[in-house]
Amino acid sequence: MNNTAGMSPFFIADNRALDVLNSIAKPSNTEIDWISNGHDLLDWLEQGELLNSCEIKRYRASAELVACDAIAIEVRSLREWFRTFVTAHAGKALDTSALKLLAPLNIILAKGNMYEQIECCNTSDGKTRDEKNVFYWKRHRHSEDVDNILFVIAEVMGDLICKLDFSLVKKCEGPTCTLWFYDVSKNHSRRWCTMSVCGNRAKAALHRAKKKSLESLS
Ligand SMILES: [Zn+2]
Repeated sequence: MNNTAGMSPFFIADNRALDVLNSIAKPSNTEIDWISNGHDLLDWLEQGELLNSCEIKRYRASAELVACDAIAIEVRSLREWFRTFVTAHAGKALDTSALKLLAPLNIILAKGNMYEQIECCNTSDGKTRDEKNVFYWKRHRHSEDVDNILFVIAEVMGDLICKLDFSLVKKCEGPTCTLWFYDVSKNHSRRWCTMSVCGNRAKAALHRAKKKSLESLS
């Protein structure tokens, strides 16, 4: 059953780990959780392109869907753990003292079953993945278990921690907005989840404030 009332999830963060945080939000009066059960979780993973269509199709089989409900509970718990970590560290570079806090993530990653193989860059449609090299590293997993979903999400969190700059992790400045993003703008001046939601709201509020102060002068 789909609990998202037809609302599309937010993939506005320019980073999948932060999109995980944004998978619960209150775009209007009602809070929507896009990973409230296994079915919703698979929809969210598909729209976020975190799993390929073959994996999604396999997990959608009814027997797997029950297991996905259990994984959705674990993903929500991981999401809220990560929210606490991000809230405490966003806006500044991480330092080594954060390592002890990352133990829960490392415990999940230790159970991962990923390995890499050297494969040919030429794809089936004749395109080349890399202009310089004939071969590339291709990630595989030892099992096709639904637990992989949890590893995929833990891995995007690990990528943000190990490969990117936490000083560019920002929360939308909208007063009631809960959405996070990774600021890839040229001058690192991004302030809003989207211009169409919080950016325009802020502009309208500024316009009203200016009008009010002009009126008080006249
Ligand atoms: Zn916002």
